[in-house]
Amino acid sequence: MVENCNFDSIQTENKTMSDYFKTTPNEAGEFGEFGGSYIPEQLQKEMDAITDAYYSISKSHAFISELRSIRKHFQGRPTPVYFCQRLSELVGGRIYLKREDLNHTGAHKLNHCMGEALLAKHLGKKRLIAETGAGQHGVALATAAAYFGLECEIHMGEVDIAKEHPNVVRMKILGAEVVPVPHGLKTLKEAVDSAFEAYLKDPINTIYCIGSVVGPHPFPMMVREFQRVIGIEAREQFLEMTGELPDNVIACVGGGSNAMGIFSAFLKDSECALHAVEPAGLSYKPGEHACTMKFGTPGIIHGFKCKLLQDKDGAPAPIYSVASGLDYPGIGPEHCMLEAQGRVNYVDANDKESIDAFYTLSRLEGIIPALESAHAVAYGMKLAQEKPRESILINLSGRGDKDIDFIVDQYGLPEDETA
Ligand SMILES: *Cc1c(COP(=O)(O)O)cnc(C)c1O
Repeated sequence: MVENCNFDSIQTENKTMSDYFKTTPNEAGEFGEFGGSYIPEQLQKEMDAITDAYYSISKSHAFISELRSIRKHFQGRPTPVYFCQRLSELVGGRIYLKREDLNHTGAHKLNHCMGEALLAKHLGKKRLIAETGAGQHGVALATAAAYFGLECEIHMGEVDIAKEHPNVVRMKILGAEVVPVPHGLKTLKEAVDSAFEAYLKDPINTIYCIGSVVGPHPFPMMVREFQRVIGIEAREQFLEMTGELPDNVIACVGGGSNAMGIFSAFLKDSECALHAVEPAGLSYKPGEHACTMKFGTPGIIHGFKCKLLQDKDGAPAPIYSVASGLDYPGIGPEHCMLEAQGRVNYVDANDKESIDAFYTLSRLEGIIPALESAHAVAYGMKLAQEKPRESILINLSGRGDKDIDFIVDQYGLPEDETA
């Protein structure tokens, strides 16, 4: 009898979760008052076709088993959950990491790129197209394209091309074509426009692949679904390791894909506090941070509605973070809904705290985190000091090899500071 009861309660819980994913977003792609689709009619037709394909193909047995096999044999999943003994001794609490840095290519982005590229293959598309800012999304997508034998075209502002040289080289080695975007500020926004324009010229053979839980419907939903693997694995692994659920789950937020990936498995576990960490940069002055949730107001960017750091004319405001993967003036619509519902706690960590965390994790645990992920670690260290009895699961979204030259150039090694 008792076993039956437990079984029933597990069933009920799973049903509540699957109800959430089935009904969120609604058919119009809305998460409460956020999300939706604000794009030209021609593009809307393409998005509708992708939505239909997503529902028919990605739920098929063939698709799911192929993606499962890719996750295991190509990406190296499941990635481990790791207990940070020495870090926990230093700051208190019990700190665990979900090691997305060990996912192939060194970050979580490949989770949705492989899903998007597999969908492209099933749709008979020949070419993947996207923009990239720091180059991380471009590298992940170029990897997926190489795996499936698809062409790959990555649009990138000329300023970013100069700044992110190693990633440009990586994309080219992987066989992608990098299209320089020479107008405007020559960064991400112009690259988005350029990629959309190129996409619209040949939507039959091409599919547009977005880099986070942002953009018009169905992307925020689709990218979340492909990233859910992080949370599904982590919840089970944490339960197996400790016999209970984590008291706290933490992730950094740029557009919000790694955070949605891990949070999604814990949304209905009211005992788990969820914390999303935005980049506070140099200060809270306009232009010196990218704390979209804290200072943003509802607006429209890249075809969807979200909280947005914007100027008085509704144009995206200048933003900054030491972690280039986090400096986005908008944020995924599901995050905006979860904030409005009070389910997720939106907090921040600044450059200095994140760089300290970068070195602390490297030296105490032998893990060099991406600067983006170091924001989550920084907040986790703060929380552990405040709540030493609680357990904390941090999503370590990526590894820091890409950041080492920059960090040492700009900030020096810790000994240099005391010398
Ligand atoms: C791109 C990136 C992020 C930010 O993107 P989200 O969509 O917010 O997850 C975080 N960490 C790493 C390592 C990244 O490459």
